Amino acid sequence: MDNPNFSIEFFPPKTAEGADKLRVTRAKLSELKPKYFSVTFGAGGTTQRGTLDTVLEIMAAGEDAAPHLSCVGGTRESIRAILAEYKSHNIKRLVALRGDLPSGYGAAGEFRYANELVEFIRQETGDWFHIEVAAYPEVHPQARSPRDDLLAFERKIKAGANAAITQYFYNADAYFQFVEQAQKLGITAPIVAGIMPITNYTQLMRFSDMCGAEIPRWVRLKLASFGDDTASIKAFGLDVVTALGERLLKGGAPGLHFYSMNQAVATTALWERLAKV
Ligand code: FAD
Repeated sequence: MDNPNFSIEFFPPKTAEGADKLRVTRAKLSELKPKYFSVTFGAGGTTQRGTLDTVLEIMAAGEDAAPHLSCVGGTRESIRAILAEYKSHNIKRLVALRGDLPSGYGAAGEFRYANELVEFIRQETGDWFHIEVAAYPEVHPQARSPRDDLLAFERKIKAGANAAITQYFYNADAYFQFVEQAQKLGITAPIVAGIMPITNYTQLMRFSDMCGAEIPRWVRLKLASFGDDTASIKAFGLDVVTALGERLLKGGAPGLHFYSMNQAVATTALWERLAKV
């Protein structure tokens, strides 16, 4: 495997204990020398301070880090202030998203879609930030059609995004088709594949329902058949996701982005297996 682009995602810890655990996780994952760590951002203000604090801690440890920034619920003024703060800390990368407002949050803010956020970031800060946006090989759940979703992706790239990270998926063909269609539109920005390690059946089903990721029937049935046998779930999950990562890299994916769930073990195991590919 020739030095593909690997990155690892965290969410901001909510407690002091979580922050301590994340320090240990990050130290372990740093040994794998990822290109950067990214840190998610809660739409509607829930984890925004936590995002910056976590990013600054990662940077203080000498690693590159990218805060996610979601615009739903935000105003031009609030996003401008966040961008200024990120710049003042010499943060150079961003993952720019629309985000999803928590139910009952009320009216959305001044940005409707992520392409408007990317455009605003470029207007305000020029080329300061390297901007990643989200892509959906299995189609975003709210998209009017697959074609519409692809065109929405194109708008984000045309607005000035440098690269994309996909939602996680277990169907490699969906990724390859998406990349091919994007290329037909003239998109040359790298589309890095998002990888969700499989460690917990119930959690995986819940997340996948929310974000529209399909768990292939045979994988779902096998995982369900292991019941409480977490060792078998993890071993099988590692095989499935290693095979996926291998196929993606051999098929030309420019890199992988690991949704680590703030855990080091599964990402490390996958990485070590893929390093032998
Ligand atoms: P958009 O690109 O704006 O697309 C959202 C939907 O609107 C799509 O269905 C699209 O087809 C549709 N659309 C776009 N433009 C138009 C238009 N003009 N008219 C009609 N429909 C349109 N969420 C968070 O809250 N915090 C995070 O940190 C976070 N990190 C993420 C990281 C990655 C790599 C990914 C893949 C997702 C992440 N998410 C995060 C989830 C993301 O916010 C949701 O998937 C959200 O619903 C869509 O965000 P987006 O940036 O893809 O939106």
